Amino acid sequence: MKEVRLENVTKSYDGVTLAIPGISLVCTRGEMLALLGPSGCGKSTTLKMIAGIESISDGAIFFDDTDVSDLDTASRNVAMVFEDYALYPHLSVFDNIAFPLSIRGKPKAEIIESVERVMKLLGLRDISGEKVQQLSGGAQQRVSIGRALVREPDLIMFDEPLSHLDSDQKVQLRTEIKRLQQTSKLTSVLVTHDQNEAISMADRIAVMDKGVLQQVDTPSAIYNQPANIFVASFIGEPPMNLLDATLASAQDPPRIRLAEHCEFAVGEQVMPPLAQRNAGAALVIGIRPEHVLVNSSQAGVSKGMLLLDGRVYAHEPGGDSDVVTVDTDIGRIVAEAPAPLMLAAGDSVQLGLEPSHFHYFCKQTGRNLLLEAI
Ligand code: ADP
Repeated sequence: MKEVRLENVTKSYDGVTLAIPGISLVCTRGEMLALLGPSGCGKSTTLKMIAGIESISDGAIFFDDTDVSDLDTASRNVAMVFEDYALYPHLSVFDNIAFPLSIRGKPKAEIIESVERVMKLLGLRDISGEKVQQLSGGAQQRVSIGRALVREPDLIMFDEPLSHLDSDQKVQLRTEIKRLQQTSKLTSVLVTHDQNEAISMADRIAVMDKGVLQQVDTPSAIYNQPANIFVASFIGEPPMNLLDATLASAQDPPRIRLAEHCEFAVGEQVMPPLAQRNAGAALVIGIRPEHVLVNSSQAGVSKGMLLLDGRVYAHEPGGDSDVVTVDTDIGRIVAEAPAPLMLAAGDSVQLGLEPSHFHYFCKQTGRNLLLEAI
């Protein structure tokens, strides 16, 4: 397994429009790096450039210290796992996994040994002789992972590997892929549009939008310290509440206005980045639904908490938590609170917003003011 490094790689398809204006990214040895973003953000293009399926327009791609930018796919030793498995349906599990070695003319004894090793790793030995068309989607995807691993690649790329699976198989295979990647220390790039997949499987996530990297970090850092409004709203289900706000006064101490009668003084941590701005600056305040208190008892209300009266727009019961959407003076706010919430559309409700949970963004640039200050 090797480290993969992209240095200012660009891609234009027609010589004019830049699908990828310039991406620099490292997937370290033994790491699973997820490329995550909405449709059209450039995930597949990046994956294809790493695999050598698409040429790069500029920049360089390295596998360890070797510049592979001009090497074709066959010379890069990259294995791919596709969402539709891409197996030979009439061949057995064994023969599908053996295929990459057979076409390379490897000796029979070596093929048997390698395929047995991989089947053992993936729990496929009991179904070794079965034709893959008879297997469930999850089992077929395990076979295609086996076929990828048997070549002992330098890098393994998972292209939406769980997209075609039912939800129970999805969760099971997700766990298996993660275990395999950790125990076998696979350098792997995962392409997905599904934030849950990226968060649960990847060591680090590269969030992309319109061909541009927005943030590359661990799942928890991306969740807790989103670099900008795009990342904040893309990660998290239900998404983070984003409220328009104004800097009422920049100093002594800075105060933020959310609405005419809703103003608060910020905590110490937020003072320095706000003190550099002019009063009147447009901000966006973010708060995650799970941090919004609903009809809290007196004991749950802390000093400095903003209390807002509102009316329930919708109530969606869940298993252990309910989601309630509430219209307030400062806009519509979504809260996620322990179930059951015993609320219905039209009910009066009080929400509690604790400023220590707020994220502060510049409305103009979208950037997280706290991270800019570091
Ligand atoms: P994703 O995989 O995130 O959905 P893609 O990498 O497929 O995104 O696409 C990124 C951008 O490149 C999009 O604007 C898309 O229209 C464009 N694009 C992708 N493939 C081609 C192609 N073969 N020719 C022209 N434009 C392309």
